[in-house]
Amino acid sequence: MSNIHSSKHPLVDHKISILRNKNTKPKQFRELLHEIGQLLAYEATADLPIKQTDVRESPLKSYTATELAGKIGLVPILRSGLSFVNALEALIPSARVLHLGIFREKVSLQPVEYYNKLPNVPNVDQVIVLDPMIATGGTAIAAVSILKDWGITNKIKFITVCASKQGLEKLTEKYPDVEVFVGVVDGILDEHGYIVPGLGDAGDRLYDTIQD
Ligand code: URA
Repeated sequence: MSNIHSSKHPLVDHKISILRNKNTKPKQFRELLHEIGQLLAYEATADLPIKQTDVRESPLKSYTATELAGKIGLVPILRSGLSFVNALEALIPSARVLHLGIFREKVSLQPVEYYNKLPNVPNVDQVIVLDPMIATGGTAIAAVSILKDWGITNKIKFITVCASKQGLEKLTEKYPDVEVFVGVVDGILDEHGYIVPGLGDAGDRLYDTIQD
């Protein structure tokens, strides 16, 4: 799985161990996802093409200014992908945000698209898909397939905090060209499609909607 980049960053490792803790409250859960999102984004954006723009003056000497060469689209998968949007927008203020709503049907675990805010014609050059979890891989595959059908031809990148080994294998088997930047890969996926030890239900923990 050569396109899977599992972060070796000690801060990512440390923050994920707090994130996993069942006693971590929603406010801290959100803050940690924001911070981990930025650390993973730093790795995921390392090869974005830049172009030279114009010559400017520093207080000491002229220099050639640069900017990103292409338009970046951030694609949060609702709901929990929203937790990464501010983190990435802070790093790439010119990015467009293209919301996709895909939920996992409870029994079949199959992805169901329920919201799609992609404009008719692609208005970005490259996309970064945001979803804190890749469990069965079904939602990730559905998102990539929607984006390819929409007309994205450049390499699609994914930022995720916690993925199952099996979900990553399924995704890379179907789409070997997709690059995944992941905080941690766990070995077990239970019969309900939850990653073990994982994080629990990321959406419920983010938005405090766990049933009492
Ligand atoms: N989605 C989650 O939020 N958690 C899992 O473990 C799997 C899918």
